Amino acid sequence: MTAGATTSDTEPSIVEPAVDIVRRTPTDAAVLLACHVNPDGDALGSMLGFGLALRRLGFTQVSASFPEPYEVPEPFAFLPGLDLLVDPSAVPARPALGISFDASSPQRLGELTVPLAAAPAWVVVDHHVSNVGFGSLRVVDPDAAATAVLAADMIDRLGVALDPAIATCLYVGLATDTGSFRFGTTTPRVLRLAAQLVEAGADPAGIARHVFDSRPFAAIRLLSDVLARAELDPYAARGRGLVSAYATPAELSRYGQSVGVLESFMDVVRTANEADVACLLRPVGEDRWSVSLRSRGDTDVSAVAVALGGGGHRLAAGFLGTGTAESVLESVRKELESGTA
Ligand code: MN
Repeated sequence: MTAGATTSDTEPSIVEPAVDIVRRTPTDAAVLLACHVNPDGDALGSMLGFGLALRRLGFTQVSASFPEPYEVPEPFAFLPGLDLLVDPSAVPARPALGISFDASSPQRLGELTVPLAAAPAWVVVDHHVSNVGFGSLRVVDPDAAATAVLAADMIDRLGVALDPAIATCLYVGLATDTGSFRFGTTTPRVLRLAAQLVEAGADPAGIARHVFDSRPFAAIRLLSDVLARAELDPYAARGRGLVSAYATPAELSRYGQSVGVLESFMDVVRTANEADVACLLRPVGEDRWSVSLRSRGDTDVSAVAVALGGGGHRLAAGFLGTGTAESVLESVRKELESGTA
């Protein structure tokens, strides 16, 4: 594939100012890439894909990181470019350029906001409609299906041809954020980009096996326990219905699983067709929960998430909740009764 083939060459793009900054940055300067806490496929894929492209441009000091807990989730442990990753405590304190990926607020970047803010330029690459506006230059497109779409555009405009490693990273971002090309964000443009990534060497079957179709047997047992306690409230969300589930820290340790395995449980919970809204609580500390919300279409769950201190998209959003699982679920039910959701 030739450079310039990924996107339209003539169309002006919101990524252009960011591309200019990269072009003006000396290749021996320290560049810090960061993505959000508990990174998903899009966060890691867009960040690592872009990091590999910077390397191809000759950059010698590229480091990539995400906040504590600093552990790459198992489904993404096969990604190319993991050698770019640096513990968040060991990143350059004052990089010449900082770029954050897929983070809708500084809070999502945790301790990495300090070195990012210390950089003369902090480029924010994101696609969350709830992005709060931070950094010194924003490449934020709520219409983009994934941050990987924006990363692909930047890579293209930097003149880096896609190789199998870069294509794999970007494909993982695209495939995870579109729910394997099932969500409404799956536009012809998304599918054209996917086709280009496959042409460049991304392997859809191999990636799907790692990312979507693989879990330890103990995680299946855990899933069984979590689903056994799932609840359906058909009257919640003003009659549109709510299905909810959670796993306790004790269950995770009983099965020797980390919180990351719970991510995919939502894909089962949200199929309950009696509920427009699905809610999954994942324990992230003592009485602290990472709460995921999904809508089948009639409910704006980003309004609920924003009201509770989080953010996201209309059909997929989340926030951090404090208290017992039941009290956090009660706060969700209450927001779902309000007129905004
Ligand atoms: Mn994303």
